[in-house]
Amino acid sequence: MLRGGITTIVDDIHFGNILDQELVEAALHAYQDLGIRAEVSAAWSDKPFYECVPHLKDCLPEELKQSPNEPQITVKAVEAFWRSLATAWDGRVRFIFSPSAPHRCTPQLLEMTWTLAESFQRPVLVHVLETRIQALTAHRLYQMPMAKFMHQRGYMTNNTIIAHGVWLSDEELELVAESGASVIHNPACNLKQGSGVAPITTMIRKGVNVGLGTDNNNGNDTNSMFDAMRLATFTGAAGLSDASYPVDSECALHMATRAGARALGRETEIGSIEIGKQADFSLLDLSTSAFFPMNDVTNQFVFCEQGQSVKDVFVAGRHLIQDGHLTHLDEADLMEELAQRMPAMIRKIEGGRPFAERLHPFLVEAYERCVDDPWMKPWVHAHNSLGLPPGSASDGIRKV
Ligand SMILES: [Zn+2]
Repeated sequence: MLRGGITTIVDDIHFGNILDQELVEAALHAYQDLGIRAEVSAAWSDKPFYECVPHLKDCLPEELKQSPNEPQITVKAVEAFWRSLATAWDGRVRFIFSPSAPHRCTPQLLEMTWTLAESFQRPVLVHVLETRIQALTAHRLYQMPMAKFMHQRGYMTNNTIIAHGVWLSDEELELVAESGASVIHNPACNLKQGSGVAPITTMIRKGVNVGLGTDNNNGNDTNSMFDAMRLATFTGAAGLSDASYPVDSECALHMATRAGARALGRETEIGSIEIGKQADFSLLDLSTSAFFPMNDVTNQFVFCEQGQSVKDVFVAGRHLIQDGHLTHLDEADLMEELAQRMPAMIRKIEGGRPFAERLHPFLVEAYERCVDDPWMKPWVHAHNSLGLPPGSASDGIRKV
């Protein structure tokens, strides 16, 4: 990410349902050593997984409900854990809060999170309506749209960062805009996983602060902000039924910089190069094919550049990348250590496979039931059914 010119990242890490401060701090220390500005959360959810997808509980045999990952930890213990991390990490590397998604958490966990965020004045990162099935989930759990539920309970504040928001309705976007919450648009991940195209043009027209994200490696792969900017303009244009086009290169650049800073509540410190702000910036070589010959620097930055022109990166005034190389860490050493650790990682992934394979047919069954659910109607029609024969829109829905 640093080599791609990124100076601040938000990493919503899922460490599993274990409270291990040393484990979380290993990640925080890694970002500290790297020199990048990082906002790190340890995502938590405390409801059994089969209660988070409609119909799954009814399909799943009892023995598969006993997942080894079932949470057995009290909200009080999570609060103490988060409080301790938030107290210890409040600088260039900062701990923030993440109740994975509203429908995956008990009311007690959600209540605790926003109270804690208020007292620390830190963001809450929460996944909201990444998939259409999650829109159905909200209606089944709360008998109302997800954002309306959050708004009613006081979980939609200017500290709230909504990851994805692909299926937010117009009515919900009004609430997001009014509350000052931000949405982080992850176009590459949304497209790769078939989640849908987020209505960012409508969000921007309604005054929602929309930042840009890449999502994690298994949701996107490249962690490239250049990919994210370009795809933001493409997805902003998709489905527009009028001639105006608000998500242009200027807008994408704004989303990648100032809007991201605003989402973190750090717009007075980062997001632009100004006197009094942190010296976080990258230098690009303008003699590369992306910029030469020069015509329009913003258009070329967003549409032509893929990261190859980034030469130097500074964070908090510290020269971290010089002429394409890390200045303060031995990259070859790091790569070698990673390669050595990889077999253990692969064993771990393979170890989870038998349980996943047993679960798979029941997830598919629950999914089919969701698609046939009468409450699903609004989202079945919202799906882009181009290329499908009339009347078979639901055939195109395949991702949960
Ligand atoms: Zn995500």
